[in-house]
Amino acid sequence: MSESKLSFFQTVVAFFDEAARLTSHSPLLLHQIRACNSVYEMNFPVKFGKDRYEIINAFRVQHSHHKVPVKGGIRYSEMVNEDEVKALAALMTYKCALVEVPYGGAKGGVRIEPRNYEPDQLERITRRYTTELVKKNFIGPGIDVPAPDYGTGAREMAWIFDTYSALNPGQIDAAGCVTGKPVEQGGVRGRTEATGRGVFYGIRHVLSYAEDMKKLGLSSGVEGKTVVIQGLGNAGYHCATSFYDAGAKIVAIAEYDGAIASPAGLDPREVQEHRKATESILNCPGSQNLNSSQDALEYECDILIPAALERQITGENAPRIKAKIVAEAANGPTTAEAEQILYQKGVMVVPDVYMNAGGVTVSYFEWLKSLSHVRFGRLSKRFEEASNLSILNTVERLTGQSLSDEEKSQVIRGADEIDLVNSGLEDTMINAYDNIREVMHSTEGVDTLRMAAFVLAIDRVAISYMQLGIFP
Ligand code: GLU
Repeated sequence: MSESKLSFFQTVVAFFDEAARLTSHSPLLLHQIRACNSVYEMNFPVKFGKDRYEIINAFRVQHSHHKVPVKGGIRYSEMVNEDEVKALAALMTYKCALVEVPYGGAKGGVRIEPRNYEPDQLERITRRYTTELVKKNFIGPGIDVPAPDYGTGAREMAWIFDTYSALNPGQIDAAGCVTGKPVEQGGVRGRTEATGRGVFYGIRHVLSYAEDMKKLGLSSGVEGKTVVIQGLGNAGYHCATSFYDAGAKIVAIAEYDGAIASPAGLDPREVQEHRKATESILNCPGSQNLNSSQDALEYECDILIPAALERQITGENAPRIKAKIVAEAANGPTTAEAEQILYQKGVMVVPDVYMNAGGVTVSYFEWLKSLSHVRFGRLSKRFEEASNLSILNTVERLTGQSLSDEEKSQVIRGADEIDLVNSGLEDTMINAYDNIREVMHSTEGVDTLRMAAFVLAIDRVAISYMQLGIFP
């Protein structure tokens, strides 16, 4: 079978197998890691009107129980199918291992086009889906913890939390059954922006290695880099604003209905405003429309960020990609065949399993908050400020110099929840990249970041299984 015929799950397995050959684990252990542990398909009726029912097809896949709970988003899309959910669940296992969050991988999917439903209909579907998960013990703070994904957001997570709580009265840790909740309902500040910000922190760190950038013909640093973003959803939008604010030039943006470009650079906030007003990014003032969404992928730029769905860069269009770096904000945007072509062209692909792990990283922080029942910074903020103030007063007294009120308030400021979340996210993205890069440079036969990421993830999952005493 040629690689382009591989399904999404088969593509993930192909990447896994290629990396697994470079490890020393037993075939049995590798088999256990590779396979999806539990696949749950459901079909349930939802009543929308007096005589109107629909049968909804949905899934939850738990890929690996080497650590529990398992974790992963829930996707609402017409393209949802078993193979896709299995692939996404497997990617979650490797992603969690890479950013060292203590979960196995899982994923959910509901096969609907959310644009075709009213909010109250979506609520009914979400609540019924949650009930199905509860019935089979597929959700819970210590069992399986869903989160947002393509087509879902904080609103859906609030419905899931409420349904779960109603079915588990008195469960004190119920808020830990789902992440990505609205802040008013136990969510954590910064979760919505986390995937996009994580992509930014990761790429900024990638760009800081001057010797790696030299090989690509790029200077180090974000400022002045040209960026193309495919998908102005949650990940793509916050990624775009982070790059824009850091001085990068967003030269093209693609959405499902078309793409726009501007060599002078687009302001993503303006594009978003235009889209809210007209329901499309097309015809945004100061930009030109491209012929198709696909054209944006082939647009001249330093960094291409696919932030939409899987299988966007294929054997067909990979030869025409002009970017020097492909930053996979989406899951599975590059097929195995395209990966080969990009490698031969000298393009650096920063793989999804690392690149978009900011979402689950901040989900982990939210889960900790839900279980500890206290806002980050609540116990320490005032104490930190008082300590900083007394140090500052001492320095001022000893030096005879004093700061302006504005400088003073900046120096003494204690960390709020958002500061701690962003700092934890930044630290996680930096450490994970350094670990992956180290494996790439130190492991014989590993010559791409994706292979390095898979080797590292497989090693970490294997160690967990061995610690459980199941495998020698
Ligand atoms: N859906 C996101 C992902 O694919 C987030 C998962 C989570 O936060 O659990 O990584």
